[in-house]
Amino acid sequence: MFTRRKQLVLLGLLLTVMTLWACGTDRDDERPLVVTTTTYVGDLVRQIGGPYIEVITLIGPGIDPHDYQPRQSDTKWLLDADLVVINGLNLEERFGEVLRNLDSRSLLVLGDHVKTEQLLFEAPNVPDPHIWFDPAIWMALAPVVRDALIAIDPANQAAYTARTLQYQRDIEVFVHYAMQQVETVPSSRRILVTAHDAFAYFGRAFGFEVYAVQGISTSGEASIVDIENLARLLAELDIPALFVETTVPEATIQAVVEAAAALNHTVVVGGTLYSDSAGVIASGTDTYLRAYRHNITTIIQALQSHD
Ligand SMILES: [Zn+2]
Repeated sequence: MFTRRKQLVLLGLLLTVMTLWACGTDRDDERPLVVTTTTYVGDLVRQIGGPYIEVITLIGPGIDPHDYQPRQSDTKWLLDADLVVINGLNLEERFGEVLRNLDSRSLLVLGDHVKTEQLLFEAPNVPDPHIWFDPAIWMALAPVVRDALIAIDPANQAAYTARTLQYQRDIEVFVHYAMQQVETVPSSRRILVTAHDAFAYFGRAFGFEVYAVQGISTSGEASIVDIENLARLLAELDIPALFVETTVPEATIQAVVEAAAALNHTVVVGGTLYSDSAGVIASGTDTYLRAYRHNITTIIQALQSHD
């Protein structure tokens, strides 16, 4: 017979076991688990890891990583992961707390592996986190991911190495295509205007001037002064088109269109760009290269069609 005291101890043990069990993510996949924050980081890891790893992406398509608040289920995934890969450079502004609980050996911060001279800065010591839009940076990060995967899964070293080389070639082919497309737009027209300042690396890589209503973060609302200043600039430079982003509400861009109209300058929405997130699978823009190709096509068509 159990005494009442023993019964209570047993009950306590049972509850502890049940709680621990409920905390896990209860996966039956035996492959290494890599948890990533953004869709672009998830895609980079998937391209190199292929079928040998399971990749979970916490911040889905169309969701703004600047103000995404990690959920409790995200914390479970992060604690379960063999490797966590994030963009860093303060893109995932609200992840600081949950990442502090992780073993630093299982955390790969891509931004920490970009050479300082390759980074763009919004202010001293405030690097622009939108590094994926510089294909040279993204290509250089592929071997960094490869090495992290080899560290958790040395048995598949050869596969990760081969896939990295293939992916770097894919990026090269894309850059060649994109350069050819950009050359069809006169250099005086290579001006990109968006809701938030996500495209500075794109501008540097492809020779565009870039302007945005908001800075490199989307936190806080765009002010009326920001909107009016940008509308004045559009009128002065005679810019025909600006662009909506999938992760930023369209209202900001519509406000700029209206402010420009008040200055007798007609500007149209040239289309929607994937800025801080790739698209859903059904849209055909679910990878970094597919989303980037969509952006190039959208930008080129909008800027060409206003003769
Ligand atoms: Zn952004």
